[in-house]
Amino acid sequence: AKEQGRNNYQFFKQEMNDKVVERLSVENGLRQALARQEFILHFQPKIHFKTGLITGAEALIRWQHPDRGLLHPQQFIKIAEDSGFIIPIGQWMLKTACQQAKDWQHEGLRPIPVSVNISAVEFRHDGLVNNIRNTLAETEIEAKYLEIELTESTLVQDAKSTMITLHALKAIGVKIAIDDFGTGYSSLSNLRQFPIDTLKIDQSFVRDMINDDDDALIVSAIIGLGNNLNFKVSAEGVETQKQLAFLQAERCEEGQGYYFNPPVDAVAFATLLGTNHAA
Ligand code: C2E
Ligand code: CA
Ligand code: CA
Ligand code: CA
Repeated sequence: AKEQGRNNYQFFKQEMNDKVVERLSVENGLRQALARQEFILHFQPKIHFKTGLITGAEALIRWQHPDRGLLHPQQFIKIAEDSGFIIPIGQWMLKTACQQAKDWQHEGLRPIPVSVNISAVEFRHDGLVNNIRNTLAETEIEAKYLEIELTESTLVQDAKSTMITLHALKAIGVKIAIDDFGTGYSSLSNLRQFPIDTLKIDQSFVRDMINDDDDALIVSAIIGLGNNLNFKVSAEGVETQKQLAFLQAERCEEGQGYYFNPPVDAVAFATLLGTNHAA
């Protein structure tokens, strides 16, 4: 038994070491990734269910790692947040997304809002509001064509400062969506006081709602709540016709997911938008 314990310990220690090494290597990479222009944005269309029209583009970051290939955010965003690199990465992200929206408009494409994910670390950072204001001015994007996505967990962290920042953003004129909605909604009893535009139903509920009555109930409740409070309700992770039919029957207005399109690069997105007409 003693030997066994020792082996377990060795195994555990090795696993810890691997994690630390992985973490350090990602951190080192992040340090240089911006300078080397290794980040790119992919865009996923948001689709108006009734008409099939594209109503927006969610910008999602990717890291073209020199050795490891295309990395998705779950492989580096947490480390970027913990190390503080999320601030310059987020600034790059915002600017690039706005610039891209402007480029599409210059190409003669129908103007649509671009949505940018802002993590809690960025939301609590003093420079956020000014950075957004400056970026809009610099890229000459009208504020209404920028949407900020904040997760529900970000919003519930510090109610007072959250409200101040939200109102400052609202005053600029950007749109505000609550991402991953439903994962902690009991604490948002004062939802109507939030100056927000959209609720995005978390994809975990959408995924299971066809087979799980609890999830179906939660989805219906969120849509009902959102419609009553005059928020737009958007569903994430729509993968099947059945899910779409359920959402439409419940009066959800729009959504995104592999059923329509996966996130694609800017060129492919322009093609999607250019060929997108009312059904
Ligand atoms: P999120 O904001 O909830 O984004 C939705 C995620 O679901 C995206 O993953 C998207 O590719 C994926 N997805 C879209 N449709 C479907 C579907 O039909 N089925 C399934 N299973 N998944 C679908 P992605 O791009 O890997 O992003 C993961 C998370 O990383 C995002 O979750 C967001 O929280 C974060 N993130 C992405 N880009 C940024 C960024 O620039 N800054 C910050 N702070 N966070 C970001
Ligand atoms: Ca999002
Ligand atoms: Ca989400
Ligand atoms: Ca479930």
